[in-house]
Amino acid sequence: MTYAQWYRDFGDRHRAIVATLGHLSDEEVIAYFDYDNLRLRHPDFCPLYATGEKCHDTDDLNCYLCGCPHFRYCDTGWGEESAGTRYSRCAITARFEQTFTHEGSIHTDCSACPLPHTTGFIREHFDRDWGKIMEECEGCVPHT
Ligand code: SF4
Repeated sequence: MTYAQWYRDFGDRHRAIVATLGHLSDEEVIAYFDYDNLRLRHPDFCPLYATGEKCHDTDDLNCYLCGCPHFRYCDTGWGEESAGTRYSRCAITARFEQTFTHEGSIHTDCSACPLPHTTGFIREHFDRDWGKIMEECEGCVPHT
């Protein structure tokens, strides 16, 4: 699956849930996306829900911004680096950002970064339209 395909698929599932929450305030929508609540109400939203695993080891895990607005991807690659072709990166070079390389492809690994799963971060970037929050993620523009 390409990054673009993942974003389209995930965005559809996110929109389908938010569409049912028109009666809730923004704060209540954020609370609805708390890992423990969402796992019970929408067990198919994330493959980890079935086993009770978490992508980040924290009690206060919120799934509203799975897919971080600071993530940048280019499915055709930005160009060659010494270890291969770079396909994703963190726009803010967060201190928890890691990188992994697979068969000549370089990707950003966000597994150690809790930032987009925190309530404060979600409040700061909140919009009921997930795609709007993520609109800068896709783009093969050269970076510095
Ligand atoms: S490293 Fe953190 S801030 Fe950067 S894209 Fe990944 S989750 Fe977002």
